[in-house]
This record gives sequence, structure tokens and C-alpha cells, in this order.
Amino acid sequence: MNAKSIDGKACAAKLRASIASKVSTLPRQPGLAVVLVGDDPASQVYVRNKVRQTHEAGMISVERLLPADASQQQVLDTVAALNQDNAVDGILVQLPLPPHLDEAAIIAQIDPAKDVDGLTTTSAGQLFLGKPGLRPCTPTGCVMLAKDALGDLSGKHCVIVGRSILVGKPAALLFLEENCTVTIAHSRTTDLPELCRSADILIAAVGRAQMIKGSWIKPGACVIDVGINRIAAPEKGEGASRLVGDVDFEDAQENAGFITPVPGGVGPMTIACLLRNTLLAAACRQGVEAPSV
Ligand code: NDP
Repeated sequence: MNAKSIDGKACAAKLRASIASKVSTLPRQPGLAVVLVGDDPASQVYVRNKVRQTHEAGMISVERLLPADASQQQVLDTVAALNQDNAVDGILVQLPLPPHLDEAAIIAQIDPAKDVDGLTTTSAGQLFLGKPGLRPCTPTGCVMLAKDALGDLSGKHCVIVGRSILVGKPAALLFLEENCTVTIAHSRTTDLPELCRSADILIAAVGRAQMIKGSWIKPGACVIDVGINRIAAPEKGEGASRLVGDVDFEDAQENAGFITPVPGGVGPMTIACLLRNTLLAAACRQGVEAPSV
């Protein structure tokens, strides 16, 4: 079998167009604020992309750039000021933060009504209880891509490799909401290849380059690769590198029915889902019905 590549870029572009078409229906232009601490090059690229796509969606972008040695209090004060700013509907703190900062305390400072990354205790609790709320962006993107490939996910066995708060755990709850039978695997799971072979939908969120091999994949399965890993690419010249996922893409294509590439799979959906959450948060804060996107 030669797997069909799931085009995350195209799905994300479609979602962003739908969001942009709904922005003008709100009484006030939605605003998304991004807080970036330090000068990590990868984070700077993400933030630049977010700012550009926020403008393209017809939203206001607010950036708060703090130095790498910003104090805990400075970051908390920045978030508190954004909580008070009525033009700001969504707040995203770009992770990871420099190691001297208490990430959990900073996330906890975000007003849950503006928690477009879906990471506060309130958002996590709403998800756990199956109540409406702002859902984490990357796992939401995974569900959308799986539905785009397979349609109804009811009854499918979804195996999620990784149990982080950012990806694995919320992904498990979101696939459960789609009536999947969900199994979560992690570093202590025994016989991971065999477990993966039982998956109709396999979510890889580990952070280990090309760890998941083609022989681990059930024929015809839908493989969503969240991992972003940089590896050496001597074929592109000395010192060159390239991005790969947690799945060995070439090998997996032999068995999978559908597979997301890296880059161009989950990554673009993450930003599109962030804009979607900003639209939903803005509608809720402005007292109008949530647009369907
Ligand atoms: P974390 O490091 O927080 O979590 C990794 C998870 O993988 C842990 O639960 C860990 O298990 C598990 N794990 C590690 N080694 C193994 C192994 N050998 N076998 C099975 N499980 C293992 O990572 P994140 O969830 O934050 O991110 C995962 C990947 O996704 C990264 O590459 C990251 O860059 C990428 N990412 C991509 C995004 C996108 O937009 N595309 C957004 C967010 C992340 P244990 O808990 O037991 O330690």
C-alpha cells in the first residue's frame, strides 16, 4: 500500500479562510496577544508565523516581547495587563519558557476566558468534564485531520504515544469525545510495536526522530505525526539539517492508509486552531453566538 498523505497545509488554509469569513460578523475585531520571553530562534519563527496569520485572518495581533532574563513577576504582570485589556480576546504564552521561570504559575495567571491555548486548569477541567470550553490547539488539529481522512471516527481504536499535558492527555480526551476507543502509551509501555499495530488511528507525540517504524503500523491505519525533530542532513551539505517527525515516514507509507508529513501536517493545523479559539473566545466575550468553524 502507498499511504495517502494528509495535506495539513491545505486543511489549515481551508480552516483559516472559514475563520476569516466569520471575523467580520463579530461586533468587534478579535485580538490575539502573544507573549514571547527570550530569543529562542524556533520560538521566534513560530511567533512570526502566528502574527502574520493573525493579520491575514482579519484579527488584531498584540506582541509582548520580553528579554530572556525577564523576572517571574515581569511575565506575570505582562499577562495580568493583557487579562485587563478589553481589545485582547486571546492570550498565548509561547512555550517553552526560559528555565528560571515557573511555567505552571504563568499559565495559571491567564484569564480562562482568554485561554486560547487551552492549557489552564479551567480549560483542562472543562475538557475532562466534557463541557464546552477552549480546547488545546495541537490535539484539536489531530482530531480534525483524522476526521478529514476517515470521516466518522466512532468505534476506531486510537493509540496515542505520549502523555504530555500539551498533547497526549488532551488528545486522548478529544478522541474519546469522538467515540474512539483510546489507549495511551508512554515510555513505560511494554511492547509498544504490538500495541501500535492494533491502532486504526495512531498519534505519535513523543519527540524522538523516526522512532515509529512501518512494521508497527496496521495496514490501512491513519497515522498522525505530531513530532517535530531536527536531524542532520548531510545530503543537503555540511552542517545542514532537516525536520522529521516521530514516525519513519518513508517506511510507514508502505503500511499506512493515511499519514501526515512533517513538516506540513499537524504544525499548520496548530496555528489555525489557535485562530479558531481566538474567534470563539472573542464571540463569547462579546456576548454573541459562537460561529461554526
Ligand atoms: P513531551 O516531552 O512533553 O512528552 C513526550 C511523551 O513521549 C512523554 O509522555 C513520554 O513518556 C513519551 N515517550 C518518550 N520516549 C518514549 C518512548 N521511547 N516510548 C514511548 N513513549 C515515549 O513532548 P510533547 O508532548 O510536548 O511533544 C511531543 C512532540 O510533539 C515533540 O517533538 C514536540 O516538538 C512536538 N510538538 C509539535 C507540535 C505541533 O504543532 N506540531 C505542538 C507541540 C509539540 P513519559 O511520560 O513516560 O516520559
